[in-house]
Amino acid sequence: MQRVSHWVNNKVVPGTSGRTGKIFNPATGEQQAEVDLASVEEVDRVIAIAKEAFPAWRATNMSKKAEIMFRLRELLDANRKELASVLTLEHGKVPSDALGEIARGIENIEFACGIPALLKGGYSEQASAGVDVYSIRQPLGVVAGITPFNFPAMVPMWMFANAIMCGNTFVLKPSEKDPSSSMFIADLLRQAGLPDGVFSIVHGDKVAVDRLLEHQDIAAVSFVGSTPIARYVYETGTKNGKRVQALGGAKNHMLVLPDADLDMAADAAVSAAYGSSGERCMAVSVVLASDSIADALVSKLKDRIPNVKVGPGTDPAAEMGPLISKEHRDKVAGYVNNASSEGATVVVDGTDKASEPGYFLNPSLIDNVKPGMKCYDEEIFGPVLTVMRVKGYEDGLAAINANQFGNGTAIFTRDGGVARQFQYEVNVGMVGINVPIPVPVSYYSFGGWKASLFGDQHMYGPEGVNFYTRGKVVTSRWPDPRTSSVNLGFPTNR
Ligand code: NAD
Repeated sequence: MQRVSHWVNNKVVPGTSGRTGKIFNPATGEQQAEVDLASVEEVDRVIAIAKEAFPAWRATNMSKKAEIMFRLRELLDANRKELASVLTLEHGKVPSDALGEIARGIENIEFACGIPALLKGGYSEQASAGVDVYSIRQPLGVVAGITPFNFPAMVPMWMFANAIMCGNTFVLKPSEKDPSSSMFIADLLRQAGLPDGVFSIVHGDKVAVDRLLEHQDIAAVSFVGSTPIARYVYETGTKNGKRVQALGGAKNHMLVLPDADLDMAADAAVSAAYGSSGERCMAVSVVLASDSIADALVSKLKDRIPNVKVGPGTDPAAEMGPLISKEHRDKVAGYVNNASSEGATVVVDGTDKASEPGYFLNPSLIDNVKPGMKCYDEEIFGPVLTVMRVKGYEDGLAAINANQFGNGTAIFTRDGGVARQFQYEVNVGMVGINVPIPVPVSYYSFGGWKASLFGDQHMYGPEGVNFYTRGKVVTSRWPDPRTSSVNLGFPTNR
């Protein structure tokens, strides 16, 4: 059985805890590998190595750091297909989706190549007599990243590229369900010339996460995953004195106004709901259909669903692969199976695929959902699109703002004034105007509001640079005997 082990000092290091997790092929349901689950002592050793590597890495020239990042970009570009097949094998996503994830991850590497420009401080000459004041940003030390199963390549790239370009050393704890793509990227970092100890991977479960959250030598933690764990990571990490950004779950609403192009809206909703089997934190999971167009829109959604080709990533025609695990597939099917008893209308029941080998579901469509129903209140994270009927703009906006999550949202309309009003009034972190999955480009930052983010810094882009550095302001005067005197008053600049 193939075994996935830790990555330390640019080498694979077998685990010694005696504990392992199972890695399945979601398209067949067969176990294909096992992953080492670290003990507290193993996590401690990795952190010690990252701590030892920090001073030299911090002192490494900016241009040298950027050169390594440029090389990583070229290596990722040359290895897109291989990395995509690793993603397909463990996560199940189809190649087009896997290549999309890699492309968006590479954009973060490209952003990181230019980070030296963002680390420039300010400089004020003659702030007081003979006194200059300037600001600098310095790295934090050893920082950790804890990542989810659904973007096993891209989400680590959101984190480590900024972290190490800012001069930190980085310890990654990937999802134990699909850890191999991070090992693939680690080897590319080695090939790019990254010194030993700057990037490490420790595989594990709650034991490893808890140790990272309490260890005194971890300065900051970036987390992406479900809301309950994000809240736990934020509370535990900050209690232990760490800087934490913890991104959680989502329930993304797409508001369709009567003046929208309904075919375009239906295409967008189907693509954004069922892409990656709905296992995206930016997936559209609720269409808010204005009453006057709701029947027409539901009918257009229903018409499109049979054309979605479900199958394993090895089938070139497949557009939607399996879900990550049997338990998750069964949980998702449960939302569809319970929907009628809650008063919703199951328009398309995709749970028929549930009996096949592999963790497949077909797309499902549920109409007439309302707050108070499980399929509306909870994050489903599967290929289930729900429709809630609303009177119009105000009603739709109120529903979005009342929801506990605030990750992404979208409005479909031809009215620029209403779209602008929406962007102003909606309590959500990432907004699309006729764009269903508004994942910000890498030179902006990614993050939701409300229960979708704990912490105050969004991920990657300029906020990522802020997160991985701390500011220092220097007030300097070079001796000038003519201005020297004793003065016990508080220093003023006038
Ligand atoms: P998860 O919360 O189960 O796991 C995320 C990480 O936390 C993994 O590394 C896992 O090992 C660890 N973990 C799990 N249980 C833990 C526990 N009890 N104590 C400590 N650590 C624990 O999430 P997942 O199922 O891997 O990913 C799907 C979730 O992630 C969805 O809710 C999705 O919305 C969310 N997500 C959010 C974003 C975002 O940007 N907001 C992006 C991607 C995914």
